[in-house]
Amino acid sequence: MTKIFAITNQKGGVGKTTTTVNLAASLAALNQRVLLVDLDPQGNATMGSGIEKRDLEVTVYHVLLGNKTVTDARKNSQAGKFDVLPANRDLAGAEIELVDFSQRETRLRDALLPVLPEYDYVLIDCPPALNLLTLNGLCAARSVLIPMQCEYYALEGLSDLINTIRKVRASLNPVLEIEGILRTMYDSRSTLAQQVSAELTEHFGSKVYGTVIPRNVRLAEAPSYGVPVLYHDKASRGAKAYLALADELLNVARKPAVAA
Ligand code: ATP
Ligand code: MG
Repeated sequence: MTKIFAITNQKGGVGKTTTTVNLAASLAALNQRVLLVDLDPQGNATMGSGIEKRDLEVTVYHVLLGNKTVTDARKNSQAGKFDVLPANRDLAGAEIELVDFSQRETRLRDALLPVLPEYDYVLIDCPPALNLLTLNGLCAARSVLIPMQCEYYALEGLSDLINTIRKVRASLNPVLEIEGILRTMYDSRSTLAQQVSAELTEHFGSKVYGTVIPRNVRLAEAPSYGVPVLYHDKASRGAKAYLALADELLNVARKPAVAA
């Protein structure tokens, strides 16, 4: 069955988009068929995948409104070897335009259904807000991947997000679970990062990925070339970290389920 992850955290700038693009490329490099869904009107994941957001006539916006299908709107990222359901600023209007639509939280889920057999992974990059777009991401997903920086207020933000996931599970998407928590922009020399990291593991145990994403300038540079870091500098610590994360995900997926 296709794994569908919402990459989400209502806090801005924690590495959601960097994770979505680079995990997509790393999974594709490990022979997985990947669809990246850009649910952010900033269109950063679209651009980071090497697709010019300003040239797009059809985007995820038209799909959410029901005017186009995913097949009409998707593009192939030659830079990353995965498919992209792209976004640009048009998407900012969707929230208001969808207000009168029925089942407005499940429009992405319904639109994705016909293409799911074509993919092993669908990665949904959510905007830094708990709005209707993010709700569409959380309803379409089967699990949530939470990138977070190990900072002082991070744990507080995390408990808000977990409450939201509980509410979505209770009302809109009963199967939704936490896929994992990913420590991003990690500086192993920082005592605070180590403390927050230890607290995270204490609270969330095996939900915290073993793989840590270090702060690495190559990760920040790659989007300006419109390529995932793997094709910018594959020897960089950033590239290796995202490949290790893809590997960790695949190894967990391969483990046989233990009978209760
Ligand atoms: P937003 O909430 O605005 O959507 P985001 O959570 O998607 O942001 P990113 O855009 O991925 O976060 O990252 C924020 C900034 O930090 C970007 O400039 C990105 O290049 C940089 N960045 C992300 N991860 C790393 C890293 N591991 N090392 C260095 N820079 C990073
Ligand atoms: Mg982003």
